[in-house]
Amino acid sequence: MSSNPYGVLGVERDADHATIKSAYRKLALKYHPDRNPGDRAAEEKFKEITQAYEILSDPGTKDRFDRTGSADGMPDMSDFFGGFGMDDALRAFQDIFGFGRTREASSGEDAVIDIELNLEEVTLGCSREITVCRNEHCSVCDGTGADPAEGMKQCERCGGQGRIRTVRRTLLGAMQSVSVCPDCRGRGSLPVKECSGCLGSRLESRERKISVDFPAGVSEGHFIRLRGQGHFPGNDGHPGDLILRIMNIDYGEYQRVDYDLIYRTRISFPDAALGTEIIIPAVEEGTMNITIPPGVQPGERLVLKRKGIRKLKGFGRGNIVVIADVYIPEKLSRKEKKVLKELGESEHFLPSS
Ligand SMILES: [Zn+2]
Ligand SMILES: [Zn+2]
Repeated sequence: MSSNPYGVLGVERDADHATIKSAYRKLALKYHPDRNPGDRAAEEKFKEITQAYEILSDPGTKDRFDRTGSADGMPDMSDFFGGFGMDDALRAFQDIFGFGRTREASSGEDAVIDIELNLEEVTLGCSREITVCRNEHCSVCDGTGADPAEGMKQCERCGGQGRIRTVRRTLLGAMQSVSVCPDCRGRGSLPVKECSGCLGSRLESRERKISVDFPAGVSEGHFIRLRGQGHFPGNDGHPGDLILRIMNIDYGEYQRVDYDLIYRTRISFPDAALGTEIIIPAVEEGTMNITIPPGVQPGERLVLKRKGIRKLKGFGRGNIVVIADVYIPEKLSRKEKKVLKELGESEHFLPSS
């Protein structure tokens, strides 16, 4: 194995990526095992040039090589890739020329749960225990899919490699490609006897309780993603995510506008003139007493600063805004009419302009 990837590909030290790729392509087509059946030397050469290209095409390894290399003693390329085999070379070749890498393990499905929050939870934030029903590894076989008494055996089709080589016709001619073994689906081994608990699926459905912190200030439509807390896949991949969708928020008697909570109430005409005290629901348990000052005008907004919803990003809270509509009596007795008429003539009852 040569110690200099630039020399292996026959390019200058300052060659750009396009030049390196083009040099590799030319050599790869020349030494590809399909063009040189049974030629061990060509196989070695194909591995070597692919490995050289892998080093030089990745800016990280290229930089490392450039920095640690010296004029008289370049580090061996095998320092960068331990155990780089023929399958690795073929797979890299497929990747480089866009045949796509065959994925051996996919991740599990996301689990989605719809969440309802109440006024207090959204105003102050909350911690909740969520029950999620998800696929996990079967507890009988520990996720192997095999009867624990019988264990696993090597897959015959791929000889335990998990991958098989097939020949495909491509634009570059007939090419070997590597794909996932259909018998063992990439594992390289198979159950001697299927697990009776999961019938070989490797999975079982289980309920889990997960504690989740919901930040204050979320709105309907927001979602929280917990990585790796979703369904396990039936292979060796990673679990999916758990997604908590905020679907409904019960604001009670309030309306939300941004981070403000709006409370509308109606007061009588004398209360508006004389001032009064009203009771409104508190964000937490219970109620709050609010003083309406004398002379409040219809639709006037009384602002309770920083009593509203905590902001999702940044600091601070919105306000509680009380809007008092004044009720004008619709039916009056004769006596009431008389009193009002007298009052209407008084100077203080004329609208101030
Ligand atoms: Zn197999
Ligand atoms: Zn099982």
